[in-house]
Amino acid sequence: MDVNSIEKKNIVVIGAGISGLLSALALSKNGHTVTVLEATDRVGGMCQSYNVGDYKVDTGPHIITRLGDGPLKELMDAYFDSVPIFVHHGEYMIRSESKVRGFPWTLRSFALFDMLPKKDRLYILQTLISLYSQRSIGLLDVDVSVSSIIDKKNLDQSTVHFLDVLCRFMTGMGVDRTPIARFFDSQDYKNYKDSKEPLDYFNGIKNLIMKKGATDQHYPKGGIQSIIECITSSMKGLDVDIRLSTAAVRIIEEDGTVKGVMTEKEILPADIVVYSSYSTELPELMPDLPNDYKNRLEGLEKVLSLTLWLGLDKALFGTDCSEIWIGCDIPCWVVPVTNYDPSLAPNGHQLVGITTNISEDCDIEAYKERLYGVVCARIDGLEKHVMMKHWQVLVPEKAAWTVGQEMPSCYTPVEGLYLVGTDTVRRSMGITRASYSVLNLLDALHENGLVKKARKS
Ligand SMILES: Cc1cc2nc3c(=O)[nH]c(=O)nc-3n(C[C@H](O)[C@H](O)[C@H](O)COP(=O)(O)OP(=O)(O)OC[C@H]3O[C@@H](n4cnc5c(N)ncnc54)[C@H](O)[C@@H]3O)c2cc1C
Repeated sequence: MDVNSIEKKNIVVIGAGISGLLSALALSKNGHTVTVLEATDRVGGMCQSYNVGDYKVDTGPHIITRLGDGPLKELMDAYFDSVPIFVHHGEYMIRSESKVRGFPWTLRSFALFDMLPKKDRLYILQTLISLYSQRSIGLLDVDVSVSSIIDKKNLDQSTVHFLDVLCRFMTGMGVDRTPIARFFDSQDYKNYKDSKEPLDYFNGIKNLIMKKGATDQHYPKGGIQSIIECITSSMKGLDVDIRLSTAAVRIIEEDGTVKGVMTEKEILPADIVVYSSYSTELPELMPDLPNDYKNRLEGLEKVLSLTLWLGLDKALFGTDCSEIWIGCDIPCWVVPVTNYDPSLAPNGHQLVGITTNISEDCDIEAYKERLYGVVCARIDGLEKHVMMKHWQVLVPEKAAWTVGQEMPSCYTPVEGLYLVGTDTVRRSMGITRASYSVLNLLDALHENGLVKKARKS
């Protein structure tokens, strides 16, 4: 299909986070007229960078996963005029009280992972191989929790804690709420549709033996916002209008078909509306949605993150890696971003982001104190090197991928209204998940002849 043969549509995108902007870019490159409405006075949503004194922090530490051949790469290849410079993330290190070890990616490194008792390592190795084998012959329900397939009673506390931290890192929830599907996802990402081919799972086992670690994970130089800047600069000359400080207050439909979007000031007519904000809030903009759909959206659960950014007057964290801290009061992920881009801090200084998940009802001030206590206890003499301290409470994903959580797809009961964002796909995490959601939207519009083929076959 040629772009010139596509019937030009008037499209309103609600939200200028990465999923809204990626959608706007792809749709305008397909010849449509796009208006993006953003409630705040900045683009980027959870993907922004800003200055705190002489340091440039991101909205939470970010490492982009699956950059080698994943959905963001596909969108960049298809639609970006320029791409950020990506720096390889390097290893994930596990820091316990006594030691820092590399993350055990392979069966061999797991067998040697002396943080856990030998009998537990053996049990987990056998379980992993058994799970892949069960899945290969269709005997495994992947929407069950990690805790339901491990024998917690017979595992050492240290092993249960390790698995729990890993689950929190992957989904924001612990072993009881994290589906084992989340762990298969990282093996399956090249198959866009859920493949049932036994070969895929045997490839998974092959990966467990051969995998070299997280080789396709990267940090964008200049901070996470540099991805957003590449998207907006790729819109130059296209028919896109981004309106900041302009919230959508109502989506208008008639006889089950979308007609436009209302803001505080005006009504924008639209043939298609792409909604990239919280699905839980869609019913506020469309009170007449069918009740069962509304109930489904309103039931979506999310987790919050608490991030501490520290500007240090010397480098206290190693090079080329981030660290997952376990065995402490608050497990957290520690990313020294200046190891990837020194320009984010004054010369010789280090900028490090430390993040953990919190529940919506926790006492945030008390949590901040505890988290700072954890950092000071782990890194000897850190306090006297702290030049800058900055806190963020944010939402990493608009819905957590938990057991049984049914996310809506990009299709809605209203013709012409589509959803994108991290609460519309049960796959991967963060920006990678947002990118999958945009590919789903483009696939849906391709079916209607409104975009060129969106993805590689
Ligand atoms: C601490 C932290 C760490 C993270 N780490 C990683 C990581 O390592 N790797 C990774 O890939 N991802 C990571 N992420 C996640 C990633 O940043 C987000 O998942 C992604 O940016 C979400 O994009 P989005 O466009 O779906 O949603 P959002 O960024 O939430 O965008 C939604 C936009 O819609 C706007 N909006 C809302 N309502 C309206 C309205 N009525 N009208 C107009 N506009 C509206 C909002 O203001 C916002 O700009 C992290 C996030 C956090 C917070």
